[in-house]
This record gives sequence, structure tokens and C-alpha cells, in this order.
Amino acid sequence: MSRIVPAVFTALLIGSAINHAAATPAERLAKAIQFETISYQDRSQIDLEEFRRLHAFLRESFPRVFTQLEVETVNDHSLLLRWPGSDSDLKPVLFTAHMDVVPIEPGTEDDWDHPPFAGVIADGRIYGRGTLDDKQGVLGNLEALESLLAEGFVPARTLVFAFGHDEEISGLEGAGKLAERMLEKGWHFAWMVDEGGMLISDNPLLPDKDVAIINVAEKGYLTLTLVATGEGGHSSRPPKTSTIGRLSAALERIENNPFPTQMVGPVAAMLERMGPHVEQPNRFFFENLWLTGGVVADRMSEDPMTNSFVRTTTALTMFNAGVKENVVPQRAEAKVNFRLLPGDTPETVVSYITELVNDPQIEISYERWDKVPGVSDYNGGGFAVISDAISAVYPDAVIVPSLLVATTDTRHYIDLTDDQYRFQGIRVASSQAASVHGTNEYIAIESYENSIEIARQMIMLAAR
Ligand SMILES: [Zn+2]
Repeated sequence: MSRIVPAVFTALLIGSAINHAAATPAERLAKAIQFETISYQDRSQIDLEEFRRLHAFLRESFPRVFTQLEVETVNDHSLLLRWPGSDSDLKPVLFTAHMDVVPIEPGTEDDWDHPPFAGVIADGRIYGRGTLDDKQGVLGNLEALESLLAEGFVPARTLVFAFGHDEEISGLEGAGKLAERMLEKGWHFAWMVDEGGMLISDNPLLPDKDVAIINVAEKGYLTLTLVATGEGGHSSRPPKTSTIGRLSAALERIENNPFPTQMVGPVAAMLERMGPHVEQPNRFFFENLWLTGGVVADRMSEDPMTNSFVRTTTALTMFNAGVKENVVPQRAEAKVNFRLLPGDTPETVVSYITELVNDPQIEISYERWDKVPGVSDYNGGGFAVISDAISAVYPDAVIVPSLLVATTDTRHYIDLTDDQYRFQGIRVASSQAASVHGTNEYIAIESYENSIEIARQMIMLAAR
């Protein structure tokens, strides 16, 4: 067992009379894993009944939460919970997580030590799809709430919890509709916290310390479609330059001319706060970024793991042309996916790429552009609350702001608050990162229990 406060267990003992099948937080998470709430790109494949069954399980497992809070089901499969505070002058705080999970890649089922939807507890771990992304986020918040309600805790500030059901395939039906509903109600928040940051136990720069990463920004997402059109015809009398050749040449220029490196605010702040804890010469470099920023950014760009922190990245992802081996196609199409640093916009990307391509016979377009969250305040407010919650459970952790290189539901909540943080109190080794969306996803029981205590602390501190 962990150093989670005894109060949680007192509360759970009371709760356990209701549900003998799942008497501990670990057992309840294991049970929740068994609901196959899988998001498929092709929405017709989604088994929505599994979401309804998961909701029923949550209602039965967290009876105080579902009777004492205001609960609304939004768009049939997402959940919105509101805990009214005693002081209506205080702006509410929003906590979010998601109930859906990604599918198991066909052919990899047998690579799992325990079947991905069995919810097996073994070796001090809970195994299964969703143990890190993101059922532990949903259940962890509910565990924290249930125990606080049992203790008679009364928040001064109103707290809202929003759990979406399609984060893995855009979040438009879940978080998108939750946000619409909250805007309809006229809610606005002091700050919010979503998934997307955690404690890392084996950061190579700080091997003896836990590093708690609170992401204060995330990268933007943009896909450009490039279409080359031109003369086609029979391959016995080919044109001098084919559409395939034209488009390939353009793609080569794009790939060989990456966006320049940059040291953006959240990454600089991360390095500066790690500075005092790392060895020389890194300490000097991190503590003097006004002088060394360019060198550090260039060094980081050499490793694919850190490259994405210091530049808008370019990935050639699709190429389609031709229907028959003896016909030169009149059209060739490619897709290029970009992940944008804070400060870059679709306009800046399109103009940079147009200049590189420099070919009037290639058309460049994009379908959709999601709003990108801004950079949240990392010198006070919600950041301070989350930091204090972490320190209460992991007093030696080095807490840093950072930039999330993936995307989350957070972007749907952009109009509800200016300050959006991404952090959950789970502690993982970097080797576990590959298991998220991959094979053998698991969470250590101790890590999960401590994350519940951090959630309790966040709720209590936010509620003041
Ligand atoms: Zn997730």
C-alpha cells in the first residue's frame, strides 16, 4: 500500500458495503477497464452500449457523487457533474478526463501479458487498455470526490467535472458538446485541468528525482493537402515532367527544409526550473538561456524525442497517384501533417510551405483548423494549486511547466477559460510511454492511489 491518507480508506470501507465486487480503488479501476469503450475512426463500429454500461457502473460505484452532485448526461454518452460551492463570487474550476480508449492493433492481442480488457490485477499493477489513458483520470477524480463527500467536505468554490467520450477521435461529440453545453449555461472558469502531464520517475537529466510535468501549452495540429495536376496520358509517350515527379520534388523540398528551431516560453521555463537540479555543464546552459537558448534548441533538435519541443515539425504521411501501370496520372495528391509550436499559425505554415514548393501547378489547401489553446500562466493561479497538490504527496518532486507535443480535449474548452493545464498525478517510467496506445498498458497500484490523493488535494485547494 502507499502513503495515501487513511481518510480515503475509511471512506472506501463505508462505500464497500454497496459494491462487494469492487471494494478498493484498484479493483474499481480494473472493473472499469472491462467495459470496451473503444473509439474507432469509423464511428459506426463504436459500441455505444458499452458507454451506457460504464455509466451504470460509475453510478453504482460512486453513490455519493451521483446523488449529491448535479449530474447531466450530455450528447447521450458524456458526463457533466457540478458541485456547487458556498461562495458564488468565486469563479469555478473545471476538471476534465475522457472515458473512451483506443483499439488494440489487430495481431498484437497476444503480445499483452494480460488481455487488454480483462482488468487483471497482478504484481502490484492494474493491466489493461485505459489504465494510463484515461480511465484512471475519470475514476481517480470520482474516487477523490466520493471520499471528500464522505468526509463532509464543503467547497467554497464551485467545481465542475466533465468526462468526454470520444477524445481519441477528435473529441467533437464529447468534449465539443460538453463545452457547448457549458457555454449555453454561461459558465466561465478561473482555470481548468485536463490529462496530458504526469510525474516521470526516470528523466535522464534527473535520474534521482521525480519530475512532475504540468503542461501549460500544447502544439497545434494542421494537415496540408498538396495536389499536383498536369498532363497525363499513355505511358508510351510520357510528358517531360509527370504529376508524380512534380509532387515528389515538392515533397523533397519540404522534408529537407524543416522549420527553424525556436526556444518557446514553456520549454525555456521547464529547462530553467530543472537547472538547479541538474549537473554541469547542463546547469550552466539551462540557467543562462538568454545566452545559450539557440545552442540548446539546436542540440535538442538532433534527437527526435526532443526535436518536437523546439520546432514546428513536418511529417509526410500520405501519397496517392495513379490507377494503372501504363497510364500517367493527371493528378497526384499528398498529405503533410504539421505540429505547430505556440506562435505559429496555419497562415505562417501555409506561407512557408508555399514559398518552398514554389510551383503554380501544385495547389495547397487544408480542410479544418482547430483553435490552439494559448500558453497558460505558470507563475500562479491554477499552476500553484496543482504544484501544491503534487508537493503534498511527492515532496521531493521537481515541478516544471512544459509543452505537450500531443493534443488533448483541452482545445474544445478554449472559450471557457484562459488558463488550461494538463496534469494528472500518476507516476510512470518513461518506458511506459510506448504502452499508451500500444501494448501492455498498465499502472502501478501505488501510482494510482497516490494520483487519487493528488486529485483530492487539487480539489480541496481549488475549492478554497
Ligand atoms: Zn487520453
